[in-house]
Amino acid sequence: MPSAVRSASSSRQIVLKGIPASPGIAIGRAYVFDPRQPAVAALEIAERNVEREVERFLKAIERTRRQIQKLRQQVARQINERQAAIFDTHLMMLDDPSFQEETVRRIRAERLNAEYLLQSQVQKQASRFEKIQDEMFAARAADLTDVAQRVLANLMTHERPALSALTKPAIVVARDLGPSDTAQMNKETVIGFATDRGGPTSHTAIMAKALEIPAVVATGELTQHVRSGDLLILDGVNGYVILRPTHDTLRDYEKSQAAIEKFEQELAKNRHLPVETLDGHAVEVGANIELPEEVPHVIEHGAQSVGLFRTEFLFLNRDRLPREDELFEMYRSVIAALHPRTVIFRTLDLGGDKFAKTVPLSKELNPFLGLRAIRLCLHYPELFRRQLRAIFRASIYGHIKIMFPMVSSLEEVRAAKTICEEIQRELRQHRIAYDRDIEIGIMIETPSAAVAADLLAREVDFFSIGTNDLIQYTLAVDRVNETVAHLYEPLHPSVLRLIHNVIESGHKQGIWVGVCGELAGDPTMAAILVGMGIDELSMGPVRIPEIKQVIRGLRLSDVQAMARDLLKQASAREVREVVRRYTERLPIRPKWPTPPLLKPIRARGSAAGIVRRLGEPVEV
Ligand code: PEP
Ligand code: MG
Repeated sequence: MPSAVRSASSSRQIVLKGIPASPGIAIGRAYVFDPRQPAVAALEIAERNVEREVERFLKAIERTRRQIQKLRQQVARQINERQAAIFDTHLMMLDDPSFQEETVRRIRAERLNAEYLLQSQVQKQASRFEKIQDEMFAARAADLTDVAQRVLANLMTHERPALSALTKPAIVVARDLGPSDTAQMNKETVIGFATDRGGPTSHTAIMAKALEIPAVVATGELTQHVRSGDLLILDGVNGYVILRPTHDTLRDYEKSQAAIEKFEQELAKNRHLPVETLDGHAVEVGANIELPEEVPHVIEHGAQSVGLFRTEFLFLNRDRLPREDELFEMYRSVIAALHPRTVIFRTLDLGGDKFAKTVPLSKELNPFLGLRAIRLCLHYPELFRRQLRAIFRASIYGHIKIMFPMVSSLEEVRAAKTICEEIQRELRQHRIAYDRDIEIGIMIETPSAAVAADLLAREVDFFSIGTNDLIQYTLAVDRVNETVAHLYEPLHPSVLRLIHNVIESGHKQGIWVGVCGELAGDPTMAAILVGMGIDELSMGPVRIPEIKQVIRGLRLSDVQAMARDLLKQASAREVREVVRRYTERLPIRPKWPTPPLLKPIRARGSAAGIVRRLGEPVEV
């Protein structure tokens, strides 16, 4: 019997290996989040709104009826009349008194929301059918649930269920989560999350880091093993999810949790000190943010600036486009709160894996290669102008810089700069103040931009290397696809050579060069980047105290020698070997205290072996 099946029925501890996506350890109860099964909360309705609630419910029934009728016609046309007849049963269910009348009666009597009452009504009925243990009744239960879900989706206007509805602290377990799901997470209630799918540099993972929520992705089949309420340990340091932990494991992890807390407190003590290597070479350490709510974290963790403000997150989860004034207000509050720190506004990077309901995008086979970022902004110039006007207007409240994402040609840079100039002219005509000395830079995240960095450097004031995308585009490895995650190799010679070329080209032209991809927050990579001459590193705020500490312990001449040596290597394996030799001598501390459970699992194979067995549960 395969171990997965045996494990599911056993009460023994199960360990699943995934990819660590956001560091930290969470211990708590699981909440299995399935967008197909909306988690509906009971909400009380004010007396005066009860009839409106009934009307909303009846409208959802009507919308559902039309959808089912359409489906019926489609199935009859494309398959056959017999298959289509199943939808006659669904239509009958929709009109069944227990389905419709009973819900209306309860809305009036109990004054609760329609979604909650319908769901509880249907669950009761379905479980009655299931108890009869007859195939026909089981099918009826499934049909009933199907119809109810359609009505629920219509009641909730097709919104995916929101994690913001969670009321108690839990570890969220899901097949997959989109950035919009993660954006709704609240650290108080979502103490960690684990997904079957996803990659370590997906925007979901980045959001988790930003929110400081420990996360493990790509566990393969976790949702098949876990039920809501199960006790879980989520090890976001090493990428393990431990189901039904033994007493010993629990105790060990509790100790690790305490050790991590202590480690962080130590780091935090020095977080506001300036960042210089032992031999006096200064490096700027900035923060990446997605939302204005993160501003306190930026200050608290000792960031010297915001090196990447992913402005598109303010466009997600909204029913209408933010107006220019709303954007202005949000930007102004961020800039003013962070003053005197500089904030680098990355203009909208929608597309790829971030979709806003309000910005139309046709379905693309390769969205990461499609209408994304600067391409999308140049395609919808009014959208771009709206954002830029708000940024320029807000610029007088502190220090800002602007950068364009996913640039792949000189023409794009020129077109975007022309729009900036037009906006500045308009503002001057209307006597609206803006900062006239704003630096304009670009992200280097396509191989095209990295190779032609010398040409692009003449057009801009700075470069910020987006390694998350640069690696994906250089190695042709989808950053959100877990099945190719083992090919996502930051130490690949091609990646290192491109980064080196960008830094050299920028410096030759007299402009500064930073890194704002995830690599900036990795101690070893940060040391390599400093050795290559990087001027700025920007990362999730939580990584800042440690990276500052790492840089303070380095001697520039040592890491320069390491970088020179690395660039001579022919393969990632050779690069790793050189890194290992140097890091044994250099004061690059381990990222986090290592949880003890790792040891017995490691004994079963090399790290690469574990990665190959992604998702395969191991009983320990
Ligand atoms: C990057 O690609 O490295 C980057 C910082 O941008 P994002 O992760 O938002 O695509
Ligand atoms: Mg990017």
